[in-house]
Amino acid sequence: MRFEDQQKWMVKHQMIDQGISDENVLSAFLKVPRHLFVPADIRHLAYENSPLGIGEGQTISQPFTVAYMMQLAELKSDHSVLEIGTGSGYQTALLAEIVKEVYTVERISFLSNQAKEKLADLNYQNIFYQISDGTLGWKTDNSRTFFDRIIVTAAAPEIPQSLVEQLKIGGKMVIPAGGKFSQTMYVIEKQINNINTYSYGNFTFVPLIGQEGWKI
Ligand code: SAM
Repeated sequence: MRFEDQQKWMVKHQMIDQGISDENVLSAFLKVPRHLFVPADIRHLAYENSPLGIGEGQTISQPFTVAYMMQLAELKSDHSVLEIGTGSGYQTALLAEIVKEVYTVERISFLSNQAKEKLADLNYQNIFYQISDGTLGWKTDNSRTFFDRIIVTAAAPEIPQSLVEQLKIGGKMVIPAGGKFSQTMYVIEKQINNINTYSYGNFTFVPLIGQEGWKI
């Protein structure tokens, strides 16, 4: 099957049939070719519903998991989104198809630079990159940076407080947190006087490593 047909098959069978119904999310998955974000020698596996190695001991997440997190985030076209864990850049591209701006942080410079090059080749102009410890959020001289949505693509031992602080009032964060080998998916909703936390099933992610994450 051609990559284009495999991509349509993935959206139908791994997403729509499994309960993903957000039209923005589904159409982003039809636009961004996953095979361009996986190493050449395993490109034939790009549309399988599984995580794949991308080097440096890291993975591109399972397509359904990425779609599920994006659906939970309830993304809108005027949103500014902070993504922690650029990885291959695949989810960064999916986000950039839907929202106004994506700020993406990766701790491994090789992965960040590789993703930046790929996403520039694909002509994305609404993505901003940082190589740093994303558990501390987006670093700027002006500490008052706030996001509509934060999506964390690696697993935290607990919710990093610095990320909660960078959410707008009314903003949401989607983050897997829990043990090293199995985590719960959480949606954190920030309101004026309180934080609401909702949980959505168990997943397994690579660890979020940093000051407010796992220590190496
Ligand atoms: N969404 C990515 C994709 O589409 O390829 C997959 C991301 S991978 C599952 C998780 C990424 O989080 C890895 O690239 C890892 O290096 C990164 N990471 C882990 N801890 C981090 C931290 N403190 N700050 C930034 N990135 C981090």
